[in-house]
Amino acid sequence: RDICSRVIRQRFLDYFIVENGHSFVQSSPVVPYCDPTLSFVNAGMNQFKGVLLSTQTPRYKKVANSQKCIRVGGKHNDLNIIGKDGYHHTFFEMLGSWSFGDYFKRDACKLAWDLLTNVYKLSKSRLYVTYFKGDESLGLPEDLETKDIWKEIGVPEERILPFGGKHNFWEMGVTGPCGPCTEIHVDHMGATNRAEFVNKGLHDLTELWNIVFIQYNRHLDGTIKALPQKHVDTGMGFERLTSILQGKTSNYDTDNFVYLLNAIHKNSRGLPKYGGTFGEKDWNKLDTSYRILADHMRMITVCLGDGVIPEQNQKLRRILRKAFLLSETVFKKENGLVKELTNYVVENLGPVYPELERNIAQIQLIVDYEEEVYKSLRESVAKDWEKLTKEKKKFLEIDVVESPSFIAAYKELAFLDVKEIDRDLAFKLYDTYGLDEDLISKMSTVLNIKFDPEVLHEELEKAKCRSKENSLYEEDGVYSNLVNKNLPKTDDSFKYSYFKNKDKYV
Ligand code: ATP
Ligand code: MG
Ligand code: MG
Ligand code: MG
Repeated sequence: RDICSRVIRQRFLDYFIVENGHSFVQSSPVVPYCDPTLSFVNAGMNQFKGVLLSTQTPRYKKVANSQKCIRVGGKHNDLNIIGKDGYHHTFFEMLGSWSFGDYFKRDACKLAWDLLTNVYKLSKSRLYVTYFKGDESLGLPEDLETKDIWKEIGVPEERILPFGGKHNFWEMGVTGPCGPCTEIHVDHMGATNRAEFVNKGLHDLTELWNIVFIQYNRHLDGTIKALPQKHVDTGMGFERLTSILQGKTSNYDTDNFVYLLNAIHKNSRGLPKYGGTFGEKDWNKLDTSYRILADHMRMITVCLGDGVIPEQNQKLRRILRKAFLLSETVFKKENGLVKELTNYVVENLGPVYPELERNIAQIQLIVDYEEEVYKSLRESVAKDWEKLTKEKKKFLEIDVVESPSFIAAYKELAFLDVKEIDRDLAFKLYDTYGLDEDLISKMSTVLNIKFDPEVLHEELEKAKCRSKENSLYEEDGVYSNLVNKNLPKTDDSFKYSYFKNKDKYV
């Protein structure tokens, strides 16, 4: 029998916490607390940004956790590839370990190697490591120290591979903590040396663990300045690790997803089961839809469980609408499928992230409400949409998921007869109509009006700062009559406690 994913997660935590003196830190909610530079938490280190920049004093010098992460925007955006490969998700768990000014490169590499090869017993002949070969544009030299450390650990030289800034200089966002990194990649297939394929996008030779040596801060003017202290920040994709340890080449074939794919099948109308095929051909489309829906269900449930409000978060709303659309058009379930599937996600992830169990009623209320709104919106624009997509071929590239907001905005713009999408209008299209930059550009092309994306960027920056000043949980929001007031508060981010139900897992 496969080793169960719960055991894999717990083994990681035990290794760092029980055996190597790190302290456990709870995952922060998926929306960062007081950080206008990010719309979602994209890595375990986000909640420690202040510590890494030395503006906050760490309570512990060595910590570990599993962090809920979402990558659908900003510097790390994987939304467009979801479903096409087996190892990128909108929502995933990052297993992380940190040293805040304590141990540095040598111990960080040794701990990671020991855990993978001695505890998880991954064969060394399936692992590759990369290191920073320097980068002129960053003005930083080759990280020979790390290369030597891997040699000392016993990694054969042909498996220690140099890469430049794109792969081996990690940055959180446009600004913030950053530094050279060393990564461990794993070959799902076996022992032949395939070093030349590392970082080339093979589905069976994937990046597993990133170990970042945080030493710099990237400022708004683009400069990189050294930090007063050096830190270690590591992150390993939990779903990818599970896949390797369960002998699969796709994360969707592991127990983090199979239950959900089965649930989709069971609750849909007479379709074949998920078949695990990839590619663009017609017969693969169903499998891709299975993957997208399963992926999106985890993201939606986790976001709603953390109190993210679709009304205020267009990314979440779009993903929710995509899920409704897939349920209806592919899985032939008129309504209720997305809501039903949240039960499965809560059952699977709830023991690890109890806020999901606590907030299930409200997760489902919002899903119901959003589904109703989306349905009636689509009905009301159906005719216009059909006409428009016939007339303007360019619109055919637009996902029908956008139809209600697109038509509404299109009508208003045509009515106003404007010559240019200025600052205010750009923001209105984004904020009120939920169109992103790409859609606004498409609209401006077809209507033949001017639009400079830069003005939208500037308005969004301003808006981010404004919305952080207001509470996410306003009393008189659209959901106020359906949602109870027990939404999780974002400030439980810096709590230290070990899992209460730890014994259940081991
Ligand atoms: P990739 O090159 O595969 O896109 P990355 O370099 O963007 O990964 P990092 O920012 O280094 O990823 O994050 C640390 C780890 O988190 C990765 O090594 C990987 O195991 C995992 N990871 C990153 N993005 C995703 C994702 N979208 N879904 C699942 N796991 C991910
Ligand atoms: Mg990536
Ligand atoms: Mg990478
Ligand atoms: Mg990486």
